[in-house]
Amino acid sequence: MNEFEIIKQYFTTDSGRKDVIMGPGDDCALLQMQPNTLLAVSTDTLVAGVHFFADMDPVALGHRALAVNLSDLAAMGADPCWVSLALTLPEVNEAWLRGFCEGFFELAEYYNVALVGGDMTRGPLSITVTVHGSLPRDRGLRRNGAKAGDGIYVTGTLGDAALGLQQQLGKVTVDEQHCEFVRTKFEHPHPRILAGQALRNIASSALDLSDGLLGDLGHITAASSLRAQLELEHLPLSQAMIDTVGLEQGWQLALTGGDDYELCFTVPEMHRGQLETALAHCGVKFTRIGRMVAGEPGVELLAEGKPYKLTARSWDHFRSGE
Ligand code: ADP
Ligand code: MG
Repeated sequence: MNEFEIIKQYFTTDSGRKDVIMGPGDDCALLQMQPNTLLAVSTDTLVAGVHFFADMDPVALGHRALAVNLSDLAAMGADPCWVSLALTLPEVNEAWLRGFCEGFFELAEYYNVALVGGDMTRGPLSITVTVHGSLPRDRGLRRNGAKAGDGIYVTGTLGDAALGLQQQLGKVTVDEQHCEFVRTKFEHPHPRILAGQALRNIASSALDLSDGLLGDLGHITAASSLRAQLELEHLPLSQAMIDTVGLEQGWQLALTGGDDYELCFTVPEMHRGQLETALAHCGVKFTRIGRMVAGEPGVELLAEGKPYKLTARSWDHFRSGE
């Protein structure tokens, strides 16, 4: 199969979106913007051996490549619309392509995102996805809007993807009843699209957690010129996490483990009631984990109200194999 046959067979589908004037096949895609909207654009590249194991199940990989990008749209509160896909493949392997497309298009269809173009090259396996979303003008959830006194919140539970990775690397043994859960959390992240949209009029700032809460929340503190105080006993940990590594190691993974793709956001106290209603409405669990205070940008950790230090020992336990 040559490049054009592959594109025609695997990547030319009709999404049914009326705002796609021209999809794959011409020099550019042509897309119709609605009046009074902003275009939200984000790109992520996944490289074999760096961001995923080269022999990873292609269905999971197709899902993941789109999911991590949609997560960025979720973090802005944007409505997903279009996506382009640049694939670098070492060889044409149709079984792999079928699997990849299955995972990719299942998620694309779920969120009504149209694949509108891309690129195909030969080389070491690498996947670059660019997503486009739309936002009502002046409504994006940025990192710089937090105010002193705002509560800090996260969706879901934290650290499970990192736990799943540790399991795959053979560094922890997860009890059989939790194996499927942690593997899914690592391989099959769910972008928090609905939660992001629901937070559009409520949150003062937001981002998605891709590198670990500590670092990612640090971006909000830097952009908002404030300090974050986290109460560790409020960090949402899964039962799998607690059963596998216990509370303190669980905190470490929740703080420093990557790939959760949950949302972290700040909400003014006066919007607390609205927040409950909005997220209950889309069925997303969320937890208040701390608050924003005046001070040097950075994240302060408290356990039972006292300063808590991440010990090098527990930190190293999970980082030594990287
Ligand atoms: P060009 O010659 O301008 O580089 P290409 O030959 O790369 O164009 O691509 C031809 C058409 O196929 C373009 O419309 C492009 O967007 C589309 N396309 C290429 N690769 C993909 C892909 N992986 N998925 C969807 N569309 C693709
Ligand atoms: Mg090209």
